[in-house]
Amino acid sequence: MQERTAMHMRYDLAIINGKLYLPFGCVQKEVGIKDGYITEIADKIDTSSADLVIDAEGRVIVPGFVDAHMHIEKSFTADDEEIDSLLEACRHSADKLAEYYYNWDRESIILDIMENAEQILKKCIVNGTAVIRTNVMVNEIVGTAALEAMERLREKYKSKIDILITADCPEKMEEEWEKAVKNGWINFIGGYPNLTVEESGYGFADADEKQRNIDRIFELAARNQLPVDVHCDESDEPDFSLFRYICEKTWREQMEGKVTVSHVTALGAKGADEEAVADAVAWCAKAAVHVVTLPSQNLYLMSENRRGTTRVRQLRQAGVPVGVASDNVRDIFRPFGNCDLLEEALLTAQIHKYGSERELTDIMRMITYFPAASCGLKEYGILPGSRANLVILNADSVPEALRSQVKKAYVIHRGKITAAYGKMV
Ligand SMILES: [Zn+2]
Repeated sequence: MQERTAMHMRYDLAIINGKLYLPFGCVQKEVGIKDGYITEIADKIDTSSADLVIDAEGRVIVPGFVDAHMHIEKSFTADDEEIDSLLEACRHSADKLAEYYYNWDRESIILDIMENAEQILKKCIVNGTAVIRTNVMVNEIVGTAALEAMERLREKYKSKIDILITADCPEKMEEEWEKAVKNGWINFIGGYPNLTVEESGYGFADADEKQRNIDRIFELAARNQLPVDVHCDESDEPDFSLFRYICEKTWREQMEGKVTVSHVTALGAKGADEEAVADAVAWCAKAAVHVVTLPSQNLYLMSENRRGTTRVRQLRQAGVPVGVASDNVRDIFRPFGNCDLLEEALLTAQIHKYGSERELTDIMRMITYFPAASCGLKEYGILPGSRANLVILNADSVPEALRSQVKKAYVIHRGKITAAYGKMV
């Protein structure tokens, strides 16, 4: 009988008295949700036909946050190391991994990675993140075990958070990597094209090597019909030739909108030629390449002389969609992080001097609409037909939510409440 009543309900959930955050600001509307989707947006919703009603009491409602660049397999593995630089962190990370998983069987590796990653997923969920895109290792130490671990987590957590996978393809493992693509385990081809691994360890690649790495990534992307999501020009030297190369290549190969570059700190390095910067930024806009900035990571890990990010303001002025993401959380690359995109957004606003209401509204886009586009999410937003992934923030405006780092009053995933006031429900 109860089921029958439910079938006749027009909404599983109605949200009234909220301010909906659309890409350019807030509007006062009510939301009707059915079967995991937003089915109605109106001035007034008939709450008598809803199973459950949330009165938002004037709070801001944003679409679920999108953390477009993480490394959740490594989370919570920090060991009190003192690390000086990115290259040192890469070296230590590889050595530690080889030592740690020496002689482990595949199933044990999978379970171990799942256990680590679950800690971070729970934090993401209570902080309102609806979708994460995580880089996952494929290498000779763990094979494709980390991919399988993520696939199991994807299934286990699908009612609470969506997981997208970026994985780079080591040259010696192309066959296994392509098999994993066919299994549906990989959504984006990743890579570290400005790094090179030699017998002696990690180093920065020279210009030819970087371009060769990118050419190979684009070839694999075309062959496997995958979008591209790579680390790019993560250095303190003002050499951003790889960024420029990727943008032009994206345009020439008609991959507009399907390529994301993360970091690009070189673009903001001291001594950068302003004309060359303007040219590279213009190519980025023309090729519709997405940029993801990782402010916490860059401030922590870059060299003593300059701890800086990419040129967010200049990229935005050119019309480039910029996402803000967490990157590493409490591992050898960064011993901090709370998986809270409001925290990363406020830091971004402070670094790039985004203080006005208009600018802070743009900052909010960097943890919602822009990274959603970078991740290729089709049903994202607060419109009829959108996936009902919403966060009711405990603030009456977007600037207030950022400034006061407010609690997430309710987190809703696929139409169901998954967390309230910092706790999973
Ligand atoms: Zn990264």
